[in-house]
Amino acid sequence: LFITFEGGEGAGKSTVLQEIKERLVAMEKKVVATREPGGSRIAEKIRDVILNPEHTEMDSRTEALLYAAARRQHLVEKVVPYLEDGYIVLCDRFIDSSLVYQGGARGIGTEEVLQINLFATEGLMPKLTLFFDIEPTLGLKRIEDHKGREYNRLDQEKLEFHERVRESYKLLAHNNSTRIQTIDATPSLEEVIENTWAIIESYI
Ligand code: C5P
Repeated sequence: LFITFEGGEGAGKSTVLQEIKERLVAMEKKVVATREPGGSRIAEKIRDVILNPEHTEMDSRTEALLYAAARRQHLVEKVVPYLEDGYIVLCDRFIDSSLVYQGGARGIGTEEVLQINLFATEGLMPKLTLFFDIEPTLGLKRIEDHKGREYNRLDQEKLEFHERVRESYKLLAHNNSTRIQTIDATPSLEEVIENTWAIIESYI
């Protein structure tokens, strides 16, 4: 069972993912948590190239290709083997992040970004995708308050960029309503975790 967690900055998806993982572990389920971009030695290196704050000259299509390359490596090394072994794979970001960030927000176009990603994934899609939806101003404020988070190139983006990310996620969720479930990430973490758990429970 392949489940992905999606959303803009500061939605809390990574924290929720860890909590869900712990609950599944407590139920003695075979479960693994992983993240994108990264999740394998090579993919983590590609992540560093993409997110390096010094790389301000990064072209959007280069960025899209690097994400797709990192996705491919992580998929082959980690996601597919775990799925074949019967694990529940919880992945922090996947193909939808590319469709939204590079396709929508950076303006390459969702269809074109989908094409390079289908090459990378050979069509493997998550069974369930959770989209943690939050007002960008609130999400960015949460990040500011959360000192431990690593600084990355996306942190230089203006509010408009994050607004485009949100709109793009909403459209994607609307067009893929059987796979993508939207979770309001505005309430307290406890509440968001319970709402997420209610959905996950119906899939396991
Ligand atoms: O998941 P996390 O927030 O750690 O992602 C790292 C950064 O990469 C974020 O700033 C995210 O917006 C960005 N990203 C992106 N395009 C993707 C995936 C992630 O710009 N396809």
